[in-house]
Amino acid sequence: MNETLDRERIRSNFDRTMQRLRRAAEQSDRDPDSITLVSVSKYVDAQQTRLLVDAGAMDLGEARPQQLWAKSADECLAQCDHRWHLIGHLQRNKIRRTLPLLHLLHSVDSARLLESVNEMCSTLDLRVAGLLQVNISGDSAKHGFNPQELIDTTQQLVASAPNVEITGLMAMAGWGTDPDQAGRQFASVAKLRDQIQDATGLPLPNLSMGMTSDFEQAIAHGATHVRVGSALWQ
Ligand SMILES: *Cc1c(COP(=O)(O)O)cnc(C)c1O
Repeated sequence: MNETLDRERIRSNFDRTMQRLRRAAEQSDRDPDSITLVSVSKYVDAQQTRLLVDAGAMDLGEARPQQLWAKSADECLAQCDHRWHLIGHLQRNKIRRTLPLLHLLHSVDSARLLESVNEMCSTLDLRVAGLLQVNISGDSAKHGFNPQELIDTTQQLVASAPNVEITGLMAMAGWGTDPDQAGRQFASVAKLRDQIQDATGLPLPNLSMGMTSDFEQAIAHGATHVRVGSALWQ
């Protein structure tokens, strides 16, 4: 592949995505700097990921722990500033190796996982920031807590995991939803967050929601982290 062409294409994709983010923020009277673009690099290799970092991406997301490990170990990528977000399911046997690499774990998707992460943090003597993943679409193939479960147990969950700093919720719109339907799902995530905050007094400022096809709707409903992949690699 021709690296100069790749570089230009990736830069223009990144710039266009940032423009979309800024425009969406302005339309909702929000500060664009209050929204983090998590650039999802799962579709490409470390070299292409490096081109994206050169274009200005700071926050990188991977869905699979092994891919995150491989890229973290890449020398070329290690030379430039960036930080890692895990956005997909974390299997328990991969916790030890993954935690030290993370800026934010978006996918705390069960009480059992939270407990294991908390224990490993204690073993490794570190603290990790995480989001509780909520299964908002009711899609049984998706990971995550159901909304009522979170209303009932967040206080207890957070209290039982002192080494994990839970700062908000993460959600995905259901498969095949159009942007308007996705918008309604994001609104319900924001409402759920408000409810949990009111009931528990815990600050939950972060909402990770929105992908390539629906991140403007997510921003309109308060997303602080949008996870965008495809738009960056077309
Ligand atoms: C792949 C992925 C994304 C990015 O999706 P795009 O539609 O490619 O922008 C976002 N979130 C999660 C959890 C993903 O696995």
